[in-house]
Amino acid sequence: MKRKTARWCTVLCLIGGLVTSSSAVAGQVKKPVVNQSFSEPKEIKMAYHRSDDVLKQLESKPPRFSDDDTKPVTQSETNDLTAVPASTPAQAPSKTVYLTFDDGPHKVSDRILAILNEYDAKATFFMLDGNMRNFPDSVKRMAEDGHSLGAHGVTHDKKKIYQSPQTVVAEMDQTLKTIKEITGIDSSLIRTPYGSVPHMKEPHKKAVSDKGYQLWDWNIDSKDWFYRDKRLVDNTIAQIAEKSKKEEPLVILLHEREETLVQLPELLQYLKEQNYSFRALDAEMTPIHLK
Ligand SMILES: [Zn+2]
Repeated sequence: MKRKTARWCTVLCLIGGLVTSSSAVAGQVKKPVVNQSFSEPKEIKMAYHRSDDVLKQLESKPPRFSDDDTKPVTQSETNDLTAVPASTPAQAPSKTVYLTFDDGPHKVSDRILAILNEYDAKATFFMLDGNMRNFPDSVKRMAEDGHSLGAHGVTHDKKKIYQSPQTVVAEMDQTLKTIKEITGIDSSLIRTPYGSVPHMKEPHKKAVSDKGYQLWDWNIDSKDWFYRDKRLVDNTIAQIAEKSKKEEPLVILLHEREETLVQLPELLQYLKEQNYSFRALDAEMTPIHLK
């Protein structure tokens, strides 16, 4: 009986030892990752320095992720991790996100385009007719830079545009015609204001489909119009982590707004480090819809 107990003790001690040593190894591996000295990429610093208020707000908030497994790894951190055989973004398979910007063009369009250019990112702009007439040069530049252009309508007024299937078609017709006038591009991409749910009933959907238009919603909502600060980046990243497990293309809803512009470099930097590439929607893709 005593010998049996001794044997069990030996086994337990061995297990205990293994657990302790593996924790120690995990601790060693994790240590550089939990390092809080997050060195911001140059672009992000530039963005933050645009507004001291934004910076103060960020400093007063807890770090984005308490679980540092999901924290973006910066270049300085990867340098510290030379001994760790963790997969780097360069080794990971290529992934794609589709950035979409609604409600433009806007006075910030050119700066959004410059940032997209810096990250070699293509995006899709769903635009309002009147805004295109106000900023035709931005629309031209979007086309020249290889982004996709789509219609978001004329009134952006639920009561007007969704009045009937014909009113939806009329607004989209007019907006797509303006895209053609300004850029020469025949687009068939549309996104209706506030998304297709609940306003686009079956007859509305049939009417735009009969016209050969592709009606696009999104599956990642940055809620940039609501957050207007760094939370829009956090919110988007959290949804990407969740949605990337599914088969659907990752379509991110953003708006052409000053606050979105300020946060855009950080979002793009994070996605780039995660080995995402940024592409524009096209007429061959099967659109996704809100459920
Ligand atoms: Zn809109």
